[in-house]
Amino acid sequence: MSKDQAFVTLATNDNYARGAMVLGKSLRNHQTTRQLVVMIGPNVSDPCKGVLHKIFDEVLLVEVLDSGDAAHLALMKRPDLGVTFTKLRCWTLTHYSKCVFMDADTLVVQNIDELFDREELSASPDPGWPDCFNSGVFVFRPSDETYSNLLQYCTEHGSFDGGDQGILNGYFSDWATADISKHLPFIYNLSSIAIYTYLPAFKQYGGNAKVVHFLGQTKPWSYTYDPTTKKISGDMQETSTHPSFLLDWWILYSSSVVPMMTEGYGDQPFH
Ligand code: UDP
Ligand code: MN
Repeated sequence: MSKDQAFVTLATNDNYARGAMVLGKSLRNHQTTRQLVVMIGPNVSDPCKGVLHKIFDEVLLVEVLDSGDAAHLALMKRPDLGVTFTKLRCWTLTHYSKCVFMDADTLVVQNIDELFDREELSASPDPGWPDCFNSGVFVFRPSDETYSNLLQYCTEHGSFDGGDQGILNGYFSDWATADISKHLPFIYNLSSIAIYTYLPAFKQYGGNAKVVHFLGQTKPWSYTYDPTTKKISGDMQETSTHPSFLLDWWILYSSSVVPMMTEGYGDQPFH
């Protein structure tokens, strides 16, 4: 039970909040001993906040536009990087000594507490450019100093891909070459894209997956699901996601998260 270590995610709206709920539930179901923290934006609705409070130890409202702080100033210079600045706020969680950030579109399929043995900045390779790490899952150490350096880096260099991944790869630029122990195995951030670009490897190793990442345009919540038939519908043509992982997400959502929606909210757009 390490109270000073936490899994951290982010949701700025109700859709990503649904992702965070499933992620949090999946961490609990696989018996994590660490704290669960979700950073939320002001646009997350009260019913969603209620459910997040049931799953997470800490629900932290982070508002990048708060009056005159460093992030606000950085954002004035780089208005394109709104959500990214919110994600960088995870470095301000200095009441924890070490954390693992996870995108709200990830799903844990095996216990991953061993990630806390790793150091900042540990992450898995990005399937599109493996000399960059994917910023959907990473180990970090909260620090006010690192946070302010990151903001400084943002304002000076921006992000080469328009998001947090570009900034973090720019800032932690020796990741590709400096220390192999900071390369997490790909099974800690298995993105659906890799399944289609290297199917034989997926068939060989996919069963070892620990974290699935639904990266790209189409998220699990973009589909609709019928809990009675356990069938998913939606634009399956550009299926960026392996159907069985997508089904795992929906089964967890409908069996564990939907029942947590309080009466009167449960039949809102959450099915
Ligand atoms: N995110 C958010 N609101 C947004 C977009 C992103 O809260 O409108 C957070 C969320 O935690 C998400 C992460 O930022 O998982 C990264 O975005 P996304 O997963 O959509 O990027 P991808 O992994 O597809 O590149
Ligand atoms: Mn993602």
